[in-house]
Amino acid sequence: MARNRKDRDSWGNFSDKSNLDWSSEEEEPDGRARPVQVLVVKDDHSFELDEAALSRILLSEEVRDREVVAISVAGAFRKGKSFLMDFMLRYMYNQASEGWLGEPDEPLTGFSWRGGSERETTGIQIWSEVFLVDKPDGRKVAVLLMDTQGTFDSQSTLRDSATVFALSTMISSMQVYNISQNVQEDDLQHLQLFTEYGRLAMEETFLKPFQSMIFLVRDWSFPYEFSYGQEGGMKFLEKRLKISENQHEELQNVRKHIHSCFTNISCFLMPHPGLKVATNPHFDGRLKEIDREFINNLQVLVPWLLSPRNLDVKEINGNNITCRGLVEYFKAYIKIYQGEELPHPKSMLQATAEANNLAAVAAAKDLYNKKMEEVRETGHYNSTTQLNYNKYTK
Ligand code: GDP
Ligand code: MG
Repeated sequence: MARNRKDRDSWGNFSDKSNLDWSSEEEEPDGRARPVQVLVVKDDHSFELDEAALSRILLSEEVRDREVVAISVAGAFRKGKSFLMDFMLRYMYNQASEGWLGEPDEPLTGFSWRGGSERETTGIQIWSEVFLVDKPDGRKVAVLLMDTQGTFDSQSTLRDSATVFALSTMISSMQVYNISQNVQEDDLQHLQLFTEYGRLAMEETFLKPFQSMIFLVRDWSFPYEFSYGQEGGMKFLEKRLKISENQHEELQNVRKHIHSCFTNISCFLMPHPGLKVATNPHFDGRLKEIDREFINNLQVLVPWLLSPRNLDVKEINGNNITCRGLVEYFKAYIKIYQGEELPHPKSMLQATAEANNLAAVAAAKDLYNKKMEEVRETGHYNSTTQLNYNKYTK
């Protein structure tokens, strides 16, 4: 349901309309959009997809036939992902304005973020509103934000996390890998678990299976070696991903394959946000308690990720994907992960083909229904048409 942004007060100064239209949404009773858990990894390590919620959000009329830009932030718990996503939301709601960051005293809301160290659910949350954005080339695209969590703390949960990570990488056009302090060997090992799927799948398609991967290093503390931001990040990553002979074979493989799995790879080094953010249990996200250096870099990072010209539409096997298509891929990909074994990459390809067909059938059926409605309205209507209508809409 399209609605006027003025209804919303929790986001402060976004009451003026920008080039963003309100689009699909699923709301709290008080009218606010919210994060919706669409994928849960349960205690028995099985996966559950909330198809109904996913469909409510992505199949709403305003967005379902729009090409989709799917942005995912993934990584371990308590590393500031949701905190970052909330600034990304502020940018999406406010991007026409210079002051998208908001007022110094404004608490940060959106995806829930919090201190402490207790666990949260492993899985994928999406923001209940899909944003419509005009790209400079005139295309209007739908932007979906995903918050993805893993535990990465034991062998049994590592597989869950890797699967969530792989899934979110498969369905996103940009995966932000949020890591703390440095790119450690185990961060790369985790990455290896799903780049392997990509590598094997590529032997079949000859196309890079994934799009953009961004290593986002939080609390970077060596700016004198590699400066904060994207340039320092790229230099750092190049050094980190270098292959050397004395490395373990597995690590060499990660380094070899990562470049062949992603169309774009980059890295951004973020400074520490300051002790209030990291340690004060009463901190509510207000800007004035965040270190200036962090805010300065946030002002570079978020537009770099989300400005209209930088939004890349999701592609699978060279085709642009719509919101409707994304639902089908989501359903198809989750199926291959619901079995006991990690999927054989061939089945990922089969699932891709199947989802492709299903998305085409759904679009055709929709078009048919629309045309039949027109026929009904203009009165050119007879019993044969009715017969066909019934046949095709069953
Ligand atoms: P998530 O589990 O990865 O989504 O992490 P949250 O966004 O919920 O943040 C967890 C805690 O880390 C909160 O107390 C935040 O205030 C804090 N935090 C957010 N960003 C950063 C950061 O860049 N560095 C540090 N050290 N803490 C952060
Ligand atoms: Mg979180």
